[in-house]
Amino acid sequence: MRLFGGKSTASGPSASVATANGDGALVCLQCGMIAGDKVTFCRRCGLTIGAQPRADATLPTCPICYVTVDDDGRIASLRRTGDRVDLVVHMSDHDDHPVGDDDYLESLRAGDLIRIDRWQAPFDLVRRYLVTGAIDGGHKRSYQHSAVVTAMSQIKRWGADADIFGDQEEWRAARVAVTALLERYHRSAYLPA
Ligand SMILES: [Zn+2]
Ligand SMILES: [Zn+2]
Repeated sequence: MRLFGGKSTASGPSASVATANGDGALVCLQCGMIAGDKVTFCRRCGLTIGAQPRADATLPTCPICYVTVDDDGRIASLRRTGDRVDLVVHMSDHDDHPVGDDDYLESLRAGDLIRIDRWQAPFDLVRRYLVTGAIDGGHKRSYQHSAVVTAMSQIKRWGADADIFGDQEEWRAARVAVTALLERYHRSAYLPA
C-alpha cells in the first residue's frame, strides 16, 4: 500500500484480519472508512457499522482502481473467491492484484505532476487514464496546453497509430511517449493472475 500509504484507510494487519471473514464489522460500508475497534456507529457519517448504505449516500471509490462500491457497500473480491468484501479489504487485495506497475509510475512523479519524456502532466489525471482509459473532462480547460493530455485525448478517440488531420509533431511525439508509458504500466507481469 505504498501508493496511498498516507491515507488512514490503508489497512493495518488488525483491520485485514477482522474483516477477512467477510463480516465487515469494523468498516463503514457507506464511507469505506475503518471505524475503529469498539464503535457501533461510524463517526464520519453516522451509519451503524455493518449496515447497508443509505440509498442517497455517495458511495466510496477505490483510489487504486477507481471502482465504486456497489449499493450494498461492498465489491466482489479480487481474489475470485465469490466473496463480497468491503472497500478496506478490497484495497488490501490490490497488494496481490495490482492494476499496473505503480512503483514505476511513482518513479516518474514530481510532486503532483508526472514526467513523461520531456513533458509533464497532472499525475492523478494520467494514472486514471492508464487504469480506466478515461480523461476527466472537468478540469480539461486548465490542461489544454499539455501535449500529454492532448495525446491521451487523441489516443482515446482515434487510437495510437492514427493519421490525424492537422496533426502536430509535438502531439505525435507525445502520443508515442504516452503509448510507451501505457504499455510499460500494464506489462503482463502486473496483470491479475
Ligand atoms: Zn461512514
Ligand atoms: Zn480497487
